[in-house]
Amino acid sequence: MKLQLVRHATLLLEYAGMRILVDPMLSDAGAMAAIQNSPQPRPNPLVPLPFPVEQVLDGVQLVLVTHTHRDHWDDAAIQLVPKDLPLLCQPEDMQKMEAVYFLNASAVHDMKHWSHICVTRTPAQHGTGEIARAMAPSSGYVLSTSGEPTLYIAGDTIWYDQVAETIRQHNPQVIVVNAGAAQFLHGDPITMTAGDVVRTCRAAPQAKVIAVHMEAINHCLLTRKELAQQAHAAGVEVVIPEDGEMAALGEAAPA
Ligand SMILES: [Zn+2]
Repeated sequence: MKLQLVRHATLLLEYAGMRILVDPMLSDAGAMAAIQNSPQPRPNPLVPLPFPVEQVLDGVQLVLVTHTHRDHWDDAAIQLVPKDLPLLCQPEDMQKMEAVYFLNASAVHDMKHWSHICVTRTPAQHGTGEIARAMAPSSGYVLSTSGEPTLYIAGDTIWYDQVAETIRQHNPQVIVVNAGAAQFLHGDPITMTAGDVVRTCRAAPQAKVIAVHMEAINHCLLTRKELAQQAHAAGVEVVIPEDGEMAALGEAAPA
């Protein structure tokens, strides 16, 4: 398995011989408005793609979408991702996918086999209280197959009991968390804070934890540097790739 951060939550995976694109946000820098009611309002994305969009899409065989907020599935993705590619999404997003003519979209209710990969949808809580209800639904996915590490893509979620439960159930060797501690002007963070990432590491000492979803959208306030400092202070190891970088997976052993 190989895992490359493109930008924000957009990932390119090589998994069981397949090339998988996760949460494509493909807009040019500054093409989208700032998130409403957010601190530090600036046009998004804050940074460009690290390489041309043709290269992001080259050879992709499956698209995996955790939810359809525009920092995970934007107008540029709707235009540029080939409409006939297989695409997996949460059931609540199927109508949206069909409305924009993604002919091979299918919903992952609980679990779905695609090629020889098992894709299990996992719970996610995108904030707390009223805000979480307004942001819902969002999902995560666990990918597993023989001969590859089990991969848990947590999606847009804070740390809560269901993340712990997913780790207990699936015992992933690699976990991708969306950090950034994204926030509106009021209320609690809606994605993982440094503390949440540390809790994830402690709950999964056997796993490589990779943190993304930072420094690309204006309401994500936690920087890579701050996360690295807080992880170091807490005595846990977090992989924090730059845009375009292959995440170092070390000895992540196959299941
Ligand atoms: Zn997000």
